[in-house]
Amino acid sequence: MSEEVKDFSHLKLNSWLLAQCESMGLKKPTPIQQNCIPQILTGKDCIGCAKTGSGKTLAFALPVLQKLCEDPYGIFALVLTPTRELAFQIADQFAAIGKAINLKKCVIVGGMDMVAQGLELSKQPHIVVATPGRLADHLDSCDTFSLQKIKFLVVDEADRLLGGHFDEQLKKIFAALPKQKQVLFFSATMTDALGKVQQIASDKVFTWQEEDD
Ligand code: ADP
Ligand code: MG
Repeated sequence: MSEEVKDFSHLKLNSWLLAQCESMGLKKPTPIQQNCIPQILTGKDCIGCAKTGSGKTLAFALPVLQKLCEDPYGIFALVLTPTRELAFQIADQFAAIGKAINLKKCVIVGGMDMVAQGLELSKQPHIVVATPGRLADHLDSCDTFSLQKIKFLVVDEADRLLGGHFDEQLKKIFAALPKQKQVLFFSATMTDALGKVQQIASDKVFTWQEEDD
């Protein structure tokens, strides 16, 4: 079943974000963007599943940036992703959209200087994009920043992050976050771990899963 995809102006996004999408040549939201963005904007947690290349990054980046403009304060959003490469790709998409608001973002991944990263974190970036291992190292060793005021936690590639391999680091990271926050899971597949999240989640969670072709 193919559903009609309307243009970006139907998503309740602010005009500066619409202008930014247009300037980037984006014409129509992908199905996951069309379905998840309005729900995230109403304050819901979200589990969104769709295959690789379906535009999951903007499905969370656009509503996070809209909310950031309403209430900018300290580190606003933490995005976790399993690999360095993905972290840089996500940060680039945030930067492209966030150009108009002088977005400050910071990438925290392994293989780079801890001290320089600690300094970046201390400058209160709006968005931190991190791999779990290196962020957990910073939480262990560095008191120059706090994640206590974040408003959004994004778990990108949640099928991979919640697969068990990252459990120890995730436990440490989740313990450093405030209780009250919006949590957005995006994944290529609905795994058992995500299914569990869905089961224990409250009515506040919107789940959207792409149908198979
Ligand atoms: P996923 O995370 O689902 O694998 P990405 O968010 O990385 O996918 O997006 C894949 C590509 O599609 C990126 O190059 C991105 O810029 C592009 N893209 C995202 N949304 C749209 C859209 N609405 N219209 C056209 N291209 C888009
Ligand atoms: Mg992705």
